[in-house]
Formats: sequence, structure tokens, C-alpha cells
Amino acid sequence: MSQQIVKQRSRGFICVNAHPAGCAKNLEDQIAVITANRPASIDGPKNVLVVGSSTGYGLASRVAAAWGFGAKTLGVFFEKVPEGKRTATAGYYNSVAFHRAAERDGLWAKSLNGDAFSDELKDQAANIIRDEMGPIDLVIYSLASPKRSDPRSGQTFSSALKSIGETYTGKTIDLGSGAVTEVTVEPASPDEIAQTVAVMGGEDWQWWIDKLLSEDLLAAGARTVAYTYIGPRHTWPIYRDGTIGAAKDHVKQTSDALNERLRDAIGGAAYVSVNKAVVTQASAAIPVVPLYISLLFRVMKQKGIHEGTIEQMRRLFFEHLAADVEPTVDASGLIRIDDWEMRDDVQQEIAELWPRVTTENLGELADFAGLKRNFSRLFGFEVDGVDYDLPVETESLL
Ligand code: NAD
Repeated sequence: MSQQIVKQRSRGFICVNAHPAGCAKNLEDQIAVITANRPASIDGPKNVLVVGSSTGYGLASRVAAAWGFGAKTLGVFFEKVPEGKRTATAGYYNSVAFHRAAERDGLWAKSLNGDAFSDELKDQAANIIRDEMGPIDLVIYSLASPKRSDPRSGQTFSSALKSIGETYTGKTIDLGSGAVTEVTVEPASPDEIAQTVAVMGGEDWQWWIDKLLSEDLLAAGARTVAYTYIGPRHTWPIYRDGTIGAAKDHVKQTSDALNERLRDAIGGAAYVSVNKAVVTQASAAIPVVPLYISLLFRVMKQKGIHEGTIEQMRRLFFEHLAADVEPTVDASGLIRIDDWEMRDDVQQEIAELWPRVTTENLGELADFAGLKRNFSRLFGFEVDGVDYDLPVETESLL
């Protein structure tokens, strides 16, 4: 056991440590959003697998399934465990907090900390589902990773966040200094595009579903959902029309193919949900996006429609994934919980602010302070109600 005072340590914008009590408080706040807004008679999936369940949209999905529907959840993630004085990663402490809260509230939960891309981890998950859970009725696929080791070819792929075809120059925030600067991104090579699709495309999602189908571990009518982002035009050169967009096109193609297979095999379905831009470790890595998010936060907060991951997942689970509810989809078959972000009045205001925003007026035109605070909160820092002068147990284990 190791009690210590944990102060935030950052490298640029990213924290290199995490605070267990702050992560636990964040988790309780997410649970409160779900339980306070839970419709009285709602029912939903009871056996849920979440791949990428320790942070961001995956963690919020797991909370929504467990506290929204009383579901048993199996969570899969890849996080560093604590070692002596070195804290674990935030996702690990989030998961410790999830297990404690689940046990307190009588909810079954199990987690696997390892590489979701590997065959071994899929085998371990299948064993737990077969022996302890019973057939899964919802699979959420919410991985975000810079690398993937392909167990079949033995190759390791790396994703690149680049434009395709042309060099892109655009506005961005230097997250360390808070300066609004220009970033130039060279176009990706064909190999970089292919590797990004291999990491963030749909192949591994398909392998998870193949595994569960082949071992008869999906319930009749089971659904699976993966997440994507579309966003407005000024982010397209780097997102939708860039390497990550190519990977997300592959996720959509995979979804269409999986949908047919699941329908024919078990009367099930596959969907892609378009989620709004939020602050996560993954989204910070994409140039241009943090500047856009800080403008988006300001406009959506002013309009009283600001949402974080848990508010988004509350809408996804209660309005689209509840029992006997058919998800509402757009003309392309996508679930659109980015609808408030994409509202004309929201996007028009951002389009007006975008050319005007500079280092000097960033604090006034954009919610940069909100973005920064959200970032610290991802690691359990700057969380209301946590006393950072008190020692905490950092070696808590799952
Ligand atoms: P995140 O970084 O918060 O979470 C990623 C999760 O994947 C973590 O649980 C991590 O442990 C897990 N993970 C990474 N590599 C792994 C591996 N090899 N094995 C097992 N687990 C692994 O990311 P996020 O932003 O919540 O993104 C999740 C999904 O949501 C992605 O598909 C992303 O494109 C999508 N999305 C994100 C945003 C946004 O603004 N952040 C918006 C729309 C859609």
C-alpha cells in the first residue's frame, strides 16, 4: 500500500500522472448524470461488452449501460498499473472506481487490462462471457489507439493524423502555451493512409464480432455500435478528409457488412454513432480540433446545450439503445448524437469566430479555460470536492 500526496505533473498539456480520488469523483459524477436522468420504466441490454472502456466515450458507455440498464459489463482497456511511487494511468483509476461503485450498487462487473487487438485478449473475454456472463446483447467498440499489432501478420501499424492529397495549413492552438498559431500538415503517403486504416478502421471490430459469433456468444437480436466523428468544414482537411477520416470510412463499411451478417445470423444489427467533439486524450492529439472544441464549448455553453461524454452517452443509451427501441438513423444509416453540435446556429457562430480568434482574444472568444480544465479533469485533477493536499492510496488494484 502506498499513500502519497499527488500533485499534477504535466508535459505540455498532457498530465504524466493521475489522481485516484479525482478519477473516482469524476466517475461518481458520471453515475449521477445517468441515475438522475434515468426514465422510470426504461429497460435495455443486460450483458454488455465495452472494448475501450476505461476513458472517454467507452467509460461513459459502460456507466450508462450499468447504471442506466443495470447491465453486467465486461470492460476491456489498456492502462498502466501503479508501480511504487508512480501512479497508474487515469483509465486504470477510473476502472478501479468503476468496480468499487459497481460492487457497492450490486452491479456485476469484470475488466481485462491488456491489448484488445490480440487474439489472447479476445480468448480471455470469450471465456469470461461463456463461463460467467452468458450471451452478450450489446458490444460497444470504443478503441482509440496510436498503434496496433496485428496478431495475424505480426506487423505493427501506426496511425498518422495527416491530410490526404494536399498540404494543409490551418489555425490551431499550441496547447502548451495557449498561443493560436498556424499548423502545416504534410499530406500522408499511401502507406501512412493504409496504416491509419489498419489501426483505427473496422478490422479489429469485425474480428471481435467474428469471435463472438463463431463461439455462439451473442444473444438473439444483439447489437454492436462503434463511434465516429464528422464535424464542420474547417476540421475536414485534417479529420473527415484526412487519414483518420479514411479509417472512419472503413469503420462505416465494416458496420454495413456486420449489420448484414448479424441480421442474417441472429436478427442483430451493427451501427455507427456520430458523437460530438469532446475533450479526451485521443481528441487532443488531432491538430486544429482543440481550437475548434474551445470555440464549440463557448457557443454550446452560452446556448445551454453543452454536453460531455456522459451526457452524450445518456442520449445514445436511453434514446437509441433501450430495449424495443429502434435507433433513429440518418439517410446514411448513422446514429447522429452530434445533432446539437451540428445545429446551423451553433456552426454559424463558430464560423464567424474562427477567422477572428487570436492568441490575444482566445480567452474572450473561446472557452480555452474550460478546455484546459476538462483536460486536467481527465487525469483526476482540478475536480471539485477533492482535497489535493491529502495523501491518497495510489496502489489500489483492480
Ligand atoms: P479515449 O482515448 O478516451 O479512449 C480510448 C480507450 O481505448 C481507452 O479505454 C484505452 O484504454 C483503450 N485502448 C487503447 N488502445 C487499446 C488496446 N490496444 N487494447 C485495449 N484497449 C485499448 O478515446 P475517445 O476519444 O473516447 O475515443 C473513443 C472512440 O470515440 C473513437 O472511435 C473515437 O474516434 C470516437 N469519437 C471521439 C470523439 C472525441 O471528440 N473524442 C468524437 C466522436 C467520436
